[in-house]
Amino acid sequence: MTSRTAIVDYVPYVLGAIGVGTLVFVAALFGILTRPEGLLAVLWPANALLLAAFVRVPAMNTPVGWIAAFGGYMMADILTGSDVNKAAWLTLANMAGVAVGLLLISKLDPEDRNLRRPTAVLYLCLTSAAAAVGSGLMGIAVAIIVFHSDPLMAFVFWASTEFSNYVIILPFAMTVSRWPDLLKGWRALALRVQLDWKVLLGAMPALSLAFSLVMVSFVSGPGAIVFPVPALLWCALSYRLSVVATLITMLSLWLMVELELHLLATLPKGADPYSGVISTRLGIAMLALGPLTVASIDRARSALVERLDHAANHDYLTGLLSRGAFMPLGQEMIDQVAARKGRLTVMVMDLDHFKEINDSHGHATGDRILVEVAKVIQRSLRGTDLFARLGGEEFAVLVPDIAKVDAQGLAQRIRKAVEQASISTANDVPIHTTVSIGLLCREPDQAVTVDSLLNEADRAMYEAKENGRNRVVER
Ligand code: GH3
Ligand code: MG
Ligand code: MG
Repeated sequence: MTSRTAIVDYVPYVLGAIGVGTLVFVAALFGILTRPEGLLAVLWPANALLLAAFVRVPAMNTPVGWIAAFGGYMMADILTGSDVNKAAWLTLANMAGVAVGLLLISKLDPEDRNLRRPTAVLYLCLTSAAAAVGSGLMGIAVAIIVFHSDPLMAFVFWASTEFSNYVIILPFAMTVSRWPDLLKGWRALALRVQLDWKVLLGAMPALSLAFSLVMVSFVSGPGAIVFPVPALLWCALSYRLSVVATLITMLSLWLMVELELHLLATLPKGADPYSGVISTRLGIAMLALGPLTVASIDRARSALVERLDHAANHDYLTGLLSRGAFMPLGQEMIDQVAARKGRLTVMVMDLDHFKEINDSHGHATGDRILVEVAKVIQRSLRGTDLFARLGGEEFAVLVPDIAKVDAQGLAQRIRKAVEQASISTANDVPIHTTVSIGLLCREPDQAVTVDSLLNEADRAMYEAKENGRNRVVER
């Protein structure tokens, strides 16, 4: 029994380690295959991807995961012809950067880690720089022990390359949706997309980005690196953060290959390629930061507007619609039902003797009861119904397309559910409450207003109070 539990417990870690090993192996192999003669790889996604994987999937960040990552780097290197000694030193340099990066990134607020606010870009820069210095310092050892080359040059080259790789790849790796969400997103998009003007307009920022890349290829020269900036800014203001981050990463990788190969091809024979390559790599990394900041600001702004919008339209205590949001939505529902000559049910509910509960148990307990009663009533309703707290201990419900007998049944079910609910106070004394309900069930005509229907339901509710409370009165 115990041993079976133990084996099951290890499964995520074993899967995590296999995942890490495979990720690093494939990414490192890709990097090695794009390595220009005698230089560090143009594209080295392995370190940034590994760092993001360790942050986002805790089951991967285990001692076994680190050993698997080491194995992944080693295998890629050895398979492509490195000797074991050289491969081990290169791997240690790579992993030193990842370790430094992980140490810093795990200290960040999740909002910063996921680029959801503009300060995130600054932290991304600093984390990348620290990780790059970590690798660069190990690069010095590698230069001295393995390559017998200039240690200072090794540091500068290694650190700048690592910096640009982290800055370029981390935004994508930290924000890209996980597999199931990605598949869901694509399916939703595929279902929605029929080629019309709206879709074409929505694709314009991405198309302009593609066009700017064509310009880079055709015009080239030192200014080419910033050609995509306007299109990137347009994308940053138009798309979701994870999409923008992905576009920026893809574009930067493409620019890196395009500009670096162009540079190497046009270099006079025997000239030193290092300064040009370092300048290109750093330039592209810096280029990504501006649009990324804009995307983060836009994301923070949208989140704020969403929060304000929710706060403006919902009651802070129960989370139900506020009166202000309910009235226009209710009118809209009434108009729609009237237009199709349907039937509409209106309920106004008021808790009975609520003042006494407040007086004997305190205001905080009263609040708790309001929250619980709202939940109890909500359970009897459907997603299409409108449910609001009109104020105090008074609620309203609009139910479209429901037969009279069903509406009467619903009102009684709600009344009974409130009556049977047992709500515990702070010192665990259960409290019971009841509700009086005024009910209307109508085929509204075109001109009717939500105010007039609520007034009428309100009168029915007062009749229920006069008749002894805890009952439904229908008009
Ligand atoms: P009735 O059966 O006639 O409705 O009696 P009642 O005591 O419920 O009615 P009354 O209108 O006299 O009292 C309503 C009380 O609801 C008074 C007020 O203090 C309380 N109340 C209003 N809003 C809140 C709130 O947000 N929280 C709490 N705890 N109490 C509230
Ligand atoms: Mg009351
Ligand atoms: Mg009242």
